Formats: sequence, structure tokens, C-alpha cells
Amino acid sequence: MHIKPQQTVLIIGAGIVGLASARAFALKGYKVTVFERYSQAIGASIRNFGMIWPVGQAAGDPYNTAIQSRDIWKSICEDAGIWYRQSGSLHLAYNATELAVMEEYAAAYAADRPCSVLTAAETLAKSEAVNPDGLIGALWNADELIVDPRLAISRLASYLEEKLQVEFKWNTLVTHIEKTTIYTGDRKKYQADMVVVCSGADFETLYPRIYSEIPITKCKLQMMRLAAQPGDWSIGSSLCGSLSALHYAAFQVAPSLSSLRQLADEYLPEYGKLGIHVMVSQNGNGELTIGDSHEYGLNPDPFDREHINALILNYLKTFARFKDWKLLQSWNGVYAKMTNGDTCFQHSPEEGVLIFNATGGAGMTLSFGLAERMIQQL
Ligand SMILES: Cc1cc2nc3c(=O)[nH]c(=O)nc-3n(C[C@H](O)[C@H](O)[C@H](O)COP(=O)(O)OP(=O)(O)OC[C@H]3O[C@@H](n4cnc5c(N)ncnc54)[C@H](O)[C@@H]3O)c2cc1C
Repeated sequence: MHIKPQQTVLIIGAGIVGLASARAFALKGYKVTVFERYSQAIGASIRNFGMIWPVGQAAGDPYNTAIQSRDIWKSICEDAGIWYRQSGSLHLAYNATELAVMEEYAAAYAADRPCSVLTAAETLAKSEAVNPDGLIGALWNADELIVDPRLAISRLASYLEEKLQVEFKWNTLVTHIEKTTIYTGDRKKYQADMVVVCSGADFETLYPRIYSEIPITKCKLQMMRLAAQPGDWSIGSSLCGSLSALHYAAFQVAPSLSSLRQLADEYLPEYGKLGIHVMVSQNGNGELTIGDSHEYGLNPDPFDREHINALILNYLKTFARFKDWKLLQSWNGVYAKMTNGDTCFQHSPEEGVLIFNATGGAGMTLSFGLAERMIQQL
């Protein structure tokens, strides 16, 4: 009897894209090894809100991929004992234009999404953290899940190691790839049947020529963390203001979105220039993660600007009331994003090698589902 040898795959990068790819290949029976330049992932995948955010995804493939990813997150978190919460989301409305956008969203997706428009009283019943002054309603969607990325990403790696025998080579920079052989900084080389490159916002080390020829950029985001709220006080649901409707593709179904944009351009021009829209999620310790701004370009400014954090906090105070506003930390993160509207970049630069990158601002939301699709297409 001829026994077929186990197929092997080398994955570069232990962010969410690399981990989702590792899971998908391991479940297909591949022997998977992941290479990560640092002792743990410290890129975009641990710097985000931890929002698994189907509400922002356009109808069809993007939304379905988000729901598939959300369900995978849920089952892994259950299995691995990783904290998560299906908190749902509230997009808050304080004027008629904002409410019109929320109503049009709810009408457009009534058949496909667990969404509805709430009165002010119903909104306040869902979240004590909502500012009641001037509130006229909100869009509620029940899909959204929160994980704590700082814990979840490292626990996910351990889970893949224990459950699916994925091997991790930490502190190992991949410097060069030739067909399906990879070369590392410690002068070793590894060979496999396939190589998958999930190097996030590092376009400079591997295949720089490919990156220079495609419509791709980097985006820098500023974020903050507020203290654990006293007495296990919960904000109930993840919250955002109406600027988020201008940011996420799903809201383009709303005819009133153009009026909302005009209002924002007139009254909040700086927010538009700096790509600021404001959201808040709460982790299992009760801490609040808030952000963010969006500044695009291949050479992100290494320095954070206090002015941007102040704008974020000022807008947050229009729709949120917390028990404790003590600032614990601020940081920035950078992700790769396609500029032609594509959800991600999947491309084979040479035989046996696949680049999987540029999940933009939705990598936590989409990566598991995108990895499943990648495997099906191979
Ligand atoms: C501030 C912020 C907030 C966000 N909020 C959300 C959110 O709430 N929900 C959501 O869905 N998405 C969110 N996103 C987007 C999401 O975080 C990204 O889409 C996702 O993390 C990208 O994952 P990645 O694996 O491609 O990149 P990364 O997490 O950056 O991982 C790439 C990894 O590859 C490693 N690497 C690179 N080159 C090499 C090499 N040559 N050899 C070895 N290792 C290498 C790096 O060290 C790194 O660990 C946010 C992003 C940011 C920055």
C-alpha cells in the first residue's frame, strides 16, 4: 500500500491572518509551521478593539464571511476558554439625519440581519453608558462579538499548537523566499509543499516589488485605553457615533448618508481630514478600548498626536458616559489596506507561494472566513 506523505505548509506571520491560515491548513490535514519574527505577535492583531464587526460589512460575501468568522471565533473561544462576549452594537443618533441613516440601514437589511431601530428609552435600557442628553434613538445589531486581542491572539496560537499540532518558530525572521524554500535570519532554510506569506504592514522584507506594483497602502490608527470600570460596571453593548456610519461600507445603502456626510464636513471638518470615527469596546477586565483615527501612507508617522486623542475623546463624550475616564494607555497600530476597495490581497508570486494580506480595518472580523475561502480555491 502506498501511503501519501503529509503535505506541509510554512506560514510567515503570527497575526490573525497567519493564525487563521494555519487553522485552515491544519484542518485540511497539512503539517503547518508558523514563523514569527518576534517572541509573540505585536502587530495590528493585538492593537485593535477586538471587535468582530459584521454590522459594518456590505451585503453578500463580506457580511457572510464576517458571520462565518464570528462563528469560528465563538467556537474556538468556547473550546479554548478564551474570553469573548457577543455584545451587539449600538450606533447612536442625536439628530434627524443620523436617525434617518439608522432607519434606512435597518429597512435595507431587515430580512438578513438581527437589526432594528430603538427608541431613546430602549437604547438606554441596552446600555447605561449612552449619553441620554439629546438622544433620539439608535441602530441596534445583535451580531457583534468582542474578544480581548492582547489575550486572544496569543491564546489562539497556543490553541493551534495544542489542538492542531501547528508548530511555531518565534523570534525567527524570514528574510527570503525562493519557490517553496524559505530562508531565516539565523541562516537556516526550510522547505515545504506550500508557503503562505501573511506579513501584514511589512511590505519591505518579502516581495517588495509585488507590493510596489499593486494598489496597496498602510493606515496608522491612534487608540486609547481607559481604566477598568468600578464594580464590574458594564457598558452593555459596543458603542459608536454616527461618524462610523460614514466609515463602514454597509451603510452605503442609506440614501441619507450623503446628508450625514455634508453635516460632518460642515461641523466636524477635522474629523474627516484625520479619518476619525469613534467607537468603544469593553474587555473582560472592564477596561474600555477607544479609538480611532485613520492616516494613510506608505511611511506612517511614528509619533502620536495628542490633538487627535483629544478629538476622539471630545466626540466620545457626546455619546458616552463612563464611571471612570482615567486614561491608562495610548498607542498606534498600522495595517495594510487595498486602495481599490478589495477586502484583501491574495496572490501567488511564484509557484507554491501565496501572499495573503491587506485585510484593512476588518482583519479580526474577516480572516477566519477568508482563510476558509482561500483553502477552497487552492
Ligand atoms: C488600531 C487598530 C484597530 C483595529 N480594529 C479592528 C477591529 O476592531 N476589528 C477588526 O476586524 N479589525 C480591526 N483592525 C484591523 C486588524 O487588526 C488587521 O486587519 C489585522 O490585524 C491584520 O492582521 P495581519 O495578520 O495581516 O497583520 P499583523 O497582525 O501585523 O501580523 C503580521 C505578522 O507578521 C510578522 N512578520 C512580518 N514579516 C515577517 C517576516 N519577514 N518574518 C517573520 N514574521 C514576519 C509580524 O511580526 C506580525 O506579527 C484594527 C487595526 C488596528 C491597527
